[in-house]
Amino acid sequence: MADLPLTEVDPEIAECIRDEEKRQHEKLRLIPSENYATRAVMEACGSVLNNKYSEGYAGKRYYEGQQNIDKVEQLAIERLKKLYGVDHANVQPYSGSPANLGVYFAFCKPGDTIMGMGLPSGGHLTHGWKVSISGKYFNAIQYGVRREDHRIDFDEVAKLAREHKPKLLFCGATAYPRVVDFPKFAEIAREVGSILVADIAHISGLVAGGSHPSPVGHAEVISSTTHKTLRGPRGGMILCNDEHKKAIDRAVFPGLQGGPHNGTTAGIAIAAKLAMADDFKAYAHAIVDNSRTLADTLVSRGFDLVTGGSDNHLILIDLTNKDVPGKVAAQALDRAGMVANYNSVPFDTRKPFDPSGIRLGTPAITSRGMGADEMKRLGNWMADVVEDTENEGLITRIAGEIKDLCDQFPAPGVRL
Ligand SMILES: *Cc1c(COP(=O)(O)O)cnc(C)c1O
Repeated sequence: MADLPLTEVDPEIAECIRDEEKRQHEKLRLIPSENYATRAVMEACGSVLNNKYSEGYAGKRYYEGQQNIDKVEQLAIERLKKLYGVDHANVQPYSGSPANLGVYFAFCKPGDTIMGMGLPSGGHLTHGWKVSISGKYFNAIQYGVRREDHRIDFDEVAKLAREHKPKLLFCGATAYPRVVDFPKFAEIAREVGSILVADIAHISGLVAGGSHPSPVGHAEVISSTTHKTLRGPRGGMILCNDEHKKAIDRAVFPGLQGGPHNGTTAGIAIAAKLAMADDFKAYAHAIVDNSRTLADTLVSRGFDLVTGGSDNHLILIDLTNKDVPGKVAAQALDRAGMVANYNSVPFDTRKPFDPSGIRLGTPAITSRGMGADEMKRLGNWMADVVEDTENEGLITRIAGEIKDLCDQFPAPGVRL
């Protein structure tokens, strides 16, 4: 069996993958955390690098045979240092959540006070939400957004930080459609003696491409995924200055993890190389332009957007005025070929599993090369479906139109 292709070894799984390729090709991917990794990244992830164990760091490993792995990891590190302008990069975290856990382990003991944005306001689970290890093992203080405009409430951030003096102050979000003001967070962190951690999981590609301000110089530690706007493999990274290098490296290994996923490391190196090219800058700006155009179209069709619009890759719609629950809308949109996710909106009166909003974003459709014309068509299709979620005739017609559009804009890395 060892040398047979997947289609022969496991036809059931091969068919699932083929069907998923078809689905990824013919539907519009609007989930803002998703993207299409490039073909080169996928090749690295599926390579023989998968087979090698390499606990430790380049030059200091616990197994022999690291001649090639050390080079791969050093390339990934050097490229990220150059791309973001930082002193150090750790590329071993298995994903974004373990990267954040590594940051906690580097600086905190159980019971220490940490602070982050609450999940209901758009923060991530790992920023201290109560069901997460970050909320259970630490004294987690949560800030939110203002009721009037749904923007981060810096008066509240400053007040809570002065009162609780957290060891770590997390900024960065998972459902926030506006620029994160890193200098303002840094000022508060400095005043109360906290280490500022910028979690740029969603926006690392925008930062790399210059379409979102960089946290470098403001946050001492930066954590991220590598598979969202950065368009790399499923993985995580931590960037920091020299002062924190030792603590971060020790926390990730041996503190938290065993052997790094070397295929992923190679994928990160490739993504970092591609992100330094001029066409990636154009891509990062096109994501934001597309998000603004889509937001404008949605507003023109009577949608109520959280904060009124978007400055980044992400849009959060409060569907209360359309009288459709988020889940019903997301399911109808999926049937029509537009894959978004239902999401809570700030101060949501509905439950998290049946909330009032939907969240969408433009990273993946921009990777397909779509622009302003397609965003306008998309906004109008979304409005037509959300205003008539049980009209299966309409939904089928739009699904066909979307498939035609997708045929004109093939998704990178998706073979048919
Ligand atoms: C996606 C995300 C993470 C977690 O990443 P995983 O790879 O899903 O573990 C962490 N922080 C933020 C802000 C995110 O958006």
